[in-house]
Amino acid sequence: MRVVSGIKPTGNLHLGNYLGAVKQWVAMQDDVQAQGGETLYFIADLHGLTEFIAPSELAANTIEMTATLIAAGIDPARSTLFNQTRVPAHSELTWLLNNVARVGWLNRMTQFKDKAGKNREGASVGLYDYPVLMAADVLLYNATHVPVGEDQKQHLELARDIATKFNTDYGVDLFTLPEPLVSAAAPRIMSLRDASMKMSKSNPSEMSLVKLIDSDDVIADKFRKAKTDPDALPGTPEGLEGRTEARNLVTIFAALADRTPADVLAEYEGKGFGQFKPALADLAVSVLGPIRDRLVRLLDDRAEVGAILERGAAKARDFAAPILVGAQRAMGLQV
Ligand code: ADP
Repeated sequence: MRVVSGIKPTGNLHLGNYLGAVKQWVAMQDDVQAQGGETLYFIADLHGLTEFIAPSELAANTIEMTATLIAAGIDPARSTLFNQTRVPAHSELTWLLNNVARVGWLNRMTQFKDKAGKNREGASVGLYDYPVLMAADVLLYNATHVPVGEDQKQHLELARDIATKFNTDYGVDLFTLPEPLVSAAAPRIMSLRDASMKMSKSNPSEMSLVKLIDSDDVIADKFRKAKTDPDALPGTPEGLEGRTEARNLVTIFAALADRTPADVLAEYEGKGFGQFKPALADLAVSVLGPIRDRLVRLLDDRAEVGAILERGAAKARDFAAPILVGAQRAMGLQV
């Protein structure tokens, strides 16, 4: 079992990113390795280019994302952790696969349609070709499993179609068809000020999101001041129907404690937010505080984070080299 997964470099990471994405990766690393498999994780900086981003921001986000993953529990000694750019084979294989993928296939990709919107003609070629780069990302390592959310399912199907067509057209058995890895549903975390909006770095109020870099006092304060209602907590999740703010806080509590919402409510049934919010604040500080401390230390030594990426990239290049050469030879390129 070889699991390959990428994440776009974003900065100003918050609790939603942690519970919805980063923590899932850490759990996957531990699960997959417990089954004797290996995990390769990359920062998808090449995918970051498909919509314009200031160079200084992209560079800083790549380091910040890497530092956050390590602070949260991705162990570079156990997982291969790198950024795409340092493994040129991602770009090289993309070009080869561009000649296998069909325009008709890419025209069906709903994410491109959603992202380009009405401005189709003004979208970058990179945005259109994004799924072919994603196919190269996983085929390059003979990934057996690729974790995918709803929005990436179609792209993984495309990667399988490209692999099949390549193997057939060139009469080889080179690429492994990756299977989707369905992990436990990631929680969706909503704003602490308005639970109809997801927690996001673009939320208008500072109080609506807990940043991974926030101090213990700030974390606790944001939870104590989170919007709620005056009622006591119900004994079951069904009782939270229509109480979006209350439901969000229970979701966050459960995710931070690795418990189910039902289990949390069984403990807090009949208690008001005067009791629940301080307990949530303490829990959040106990989970996020140590992550923040590690993150701050790593961000103080950005050169070391860069060195970790380079070591991961060296390993990734070794994995990728024979497959790239196999693809080049199969196509008749002299290498
Ligand atoms: P933002 O909305 O802050 O710009 P991104 O779109 O950069 O966040 O998301 C990066 C990752 O974090 C994605 O995998 C996304 O699914 C996850 N994520 C972002 N916000 C949330 C949230 N509020 N709840 C759960 N997961 C989230």
